[in-house]
Amino acid sequence: MRVVVLRLGHRPQRDRRITTHVALVARAFGAEGMVMVGEDKGVKGSVERVVERWGGPFYLESIRAPIPYIKGWKGKVVHLTMYGVPMGTVMGEIKAGEGGILVVVGAEKVPREVYGLADYNVAVGNQPHSEVGALAVFLDRLFQGAGLDREFQGRLKILPDPRGKRVLDLGLQ
Ligand code: SAM
Repeated sequence: MRVVVLRLGHRPQRDRRITTHVALVARAFGAEGMVMVGEDKGVKGSVERVVERWGGPFYLESIRAPIPYIKGWKGKVVHLTMYGVPMGTVMGEIKAGEGGILVVVGAEKVPREVYGLADYNVAVGNQPHSEVGALAVFLDRLFQGAGLDREFQGRLKILPDPRGKRVLDLGLQ
């Protein structure tokens, strides 16, 4: 299942850390890439460093405007919002069929038009929390945990350890 995350409303400086976290969650939980408006060198650099060290595939793409991107998306558009319908009531429909899934997450206020353009306005619980939390839970439910089990082709690999840190650096071999 092809999944791309669209990050709306990124404010340079203010949102740099959280937008980076949205991208890292997208990557780690099974999305193929993230799209955001404009270019933020800080976000780009952090994400590229993670991909270079810990592996891909994962891309970060800059676009000029989100509305034409949403309108041009071939597949389903899922907007995560606390005002939407409970995730469990539409997850079956979202998973069914062909085509990619565009998962839209906001920052401060999401333009009204996005609610109308989305095929699904989905709530991860009807309480306010965070785009990072909402995305993680949504992707985990969508992939039923399998997104986390993907193998990344990176230079660094963690050897899980009950007590400490063990990291294999394939670049040193
Ligand atoms: N007041 C904003 C609004 O009108 O949506 C919420 C801002 S919230 C800090 C930023 C983003 O987190 C939202 O745009 C949404 O994508 C996501 N989010 C927060 N709580 C959520 C929830 N309960 N379910 C789904 N997404 C949520």
